[in-house]
Amino acid sequence: MIPKQLDLVRAEIPTNTTLIAVSKTKPLADLQEAYNAGQRHFGENKVQEMVEKARQLPPDIHWHLIGHLQTNKVKYMAGFVHLIHGVDSLKLLQEIDKQARKVGRVQDVLLQFYIAQEETKFGLELQEAKAILDSLEFKQLKNIQICGVMGMASNTSDQTQVASEFRTLKQIFETLSNNYFQGQTYFKEISMGMSGDYQLAIQNGSTMVRVGSKIFGGR
Ligand SMILES: *Cc1c(COP(=O)(O)O)cnc(C)c1O
Repeated sequence: MIPKQLDLVRAEIPTNTTLIAVSKTKPLADLQEAYNAGQRHFGENKVQEMVEKARQLPPDIHWHLIGHLQTNKVKYMAGFVHLIHGVDSLKLLQEIDKQARKVGRVQDVLLQFYIAQEETKFGLELQEAKAILDSLEFKQLKNIQICGVMGMASNTSDQTQVASEFRTLKQIFETLSNNYFQGQTYFKEISMGMSGDYQLAIQNGSTMVRVGSKIFGGR
């Protein structure tokens, strides 16, 4: 079942778009099945769960932390996490930098932006991100690398609305790229699109889709 679903999703995704299989709440056996079908990028939203799964699964998996992150949890994953998607404060950047330095890594992260018309979603506004990137505190951080942006569209069937939110994130990416990351080839990722809207996200510039239920079934 999982390999078949993976194939279906892969068939709809350009080869240069990274498919992150969102495996939160799913048992190890499900992840192993996806791994055996060639999947290497997995997304989890809780640090503890990701750490436990990583310990028991093959070491060539790229682990993505996609959920909201608390500063006190960063240290548990600093040694291995591939990409942290939900970074939305200077405080978090500083903690990630500190923990990455301790283990001798440069940690890749994405800045999360608020694009949805919903109260519950986390994320920065463009002005807040600019304030962070302009700050002296940020410029001192040597063990983080901001590789792009991440966002979640509104949970609505209104495709026009969702497409417009994805375009907003793409514009934010372009603005930051032109003003802060010119010539920096590592600044290239736009993480947007989930099971219900990844095709729309790809049409609007997504480079990474985070797909859970469409691969693993409902939670
Ligand atoms: C759970 C989750 C997903 C995947 O959602 P599905 O609808 O199951 O594909 C993607 N992104 C984030 C941030 C999530 O928390």
